Amino acid sequence: MNPLPRIDIDTQVIRRNAQFLCNRLGRVGISVTGVTKGVGGHPAVAQAMLDGGVVGLADSRLDNVMRLRTAGITCPISLIRAPMRAEMAGVVAYCTNSYNTELETIALLGAAALAVGRVHGVMLMVEVGDSREGLLLRDLPAFVLAVHRHSGLRLDGVGVNFACLSGVPPTTAALLCLCAAIATAESASGIRIPQLSGGNSASLPLLLTGPDHARVNNLRLGESILLGCEPVSGRLINGLSDTAFGLVAEVIESSHKSHRVTVATTRPVDISNQVVLALGSQDTDIQGLGFPLGCTLAGSTSDHSVLDTGKRRRTVGSEVALTMNYSALSRAMAVTAISKRLCVKPQPAVGVARRPSVLLRA
Ligand SMILES: *Cc1c(COP(=O)(O)O)cnc(C)c1O
Repeated sequence: MNPLPRIDIDTQVIRRNAQFLCNRLGRVGISVTGVTKGVGGHPAVAQAMLDGGVVGLADSRLDNVMRLRTAGITCPISLIRAPMRAEMAGVVAYCTNSYNTELETIALLGAAALAVGRVHGVMLMVEVGDSREGLLLRDLPAFVLAVHRHSGLRLDGVGVNFACLSGVPPTTAALLCLCAAIATAESASGIRIPQLSGGNSASLPLLLTGPDHARVNNLRLGESILLGCEPVSGRLINGLSDTAFGLVAEVIESSHKSHRVTVATTRPVDISNQVVLALGSQDTDIQGLGFPLGCTLAGSTSDHSVLDTGKRRRTVGSEVALTMNYSALSRAMAVTAISKRLCVKPQPAVGVARRPSVLLRA
């Protein structure tokens, strides 16, 4: 059996979530690229996304892309973080295209592609308000021409990102401004821009309920497929499931005391049951975990977490099922000391409050 701590993964839930989103977005002419960085490029999760209908995959790390390729995945894969200097040859070898914001990097990619007789695709990432990465709209025509003129490069499209750094969700105004800039760049250069990738899971509410954003024909979705939720509000999307992943940790100490005993306090000390879990901040984002009903987090260090379990006593060696948000999931999936088990139903974290859901109309 898989050792603890362990992540249970229900790939059927991931496939169904992907399928639901691909169907809804397909109706408005938008394809879905499945983002695998939240699972460290886990091939079975990627395959479940593909089975659900995503047209390609994307990851922010070249290592994860190589993991997907090594597992035999042959679909288009985008690198959604701009490449570092030492990565150019690897990006050209393993990625169909990459998201870029610097002319210097684009030139290095083109040279690396020419050196091996390949053509590398470029997606130009444009800044429209998230203030993370992206070139300025006014520089778009120059970038379009630079990519088009390079025989080692192919212009695949333009991408935008919302709500990653700033937490600001996309607006119709921002998308319209972007569409106008794309039209300008096209007429100035005489070059057609095939794809407009309109953002991540935070773009779902706008693109599924808002007015027609005719030029947006792709979204890059990670969190909504994996966890069923919309990242800005953190709410479950109606029609999606949040049961694809479960984290299981082992109780290594069980006692009848309270962490407050150790703290100098004038308040009466309330004694309750407490357990120590073999799971710490080196393993995951402890603040991003959901605990079973009646349990509260008393504290954590790099390798231990202390839970106040109230009236309930838990035995040493028993398992505690936890839920993970995106931050907890992505960190835990990258930790090799946490085993990953594919199963039909993850062990449920009993009684963890379900989040209210948001309805997305198509
Ligand atoms: C992480 C990321 C995504 C996916 O974001 P979700 O909120 O998980 O859907 C899309 N695009 C870029 C550039 C990213 O870094």
